[in-house]
Amino acid sequence: MPAVRNIVRDFRVEEARAERKCHANSSDKILAGEKHFAYDDSGRINICKKCADSVLKVASDHIEKVRIELSR
Ligand SMILES: [Zn+2]
Repeated sequence: MPAVRNIVRDFRVEEARAERKCHANSSDKILAGEKHFAYDDSGRINICKKCADSVLKVASDHIEKVRIELSR
């Protein structure tokens, strides 16, 4: 079987080099040196640790929904 492509390989954890704004909630700040979730969507998207949990949960629920739909 050929290697399966990882379609979410741009999902990653980064350490902010400078202070950044959280894309999920603009009133959240990501401080320099702080770990955060990042991915690409026509430019880099930075999500703070606090918001990452719910953002990843929505993504994983969506993947599960597609998986179930396909298997029916
Ligand atoms: Zn946030």
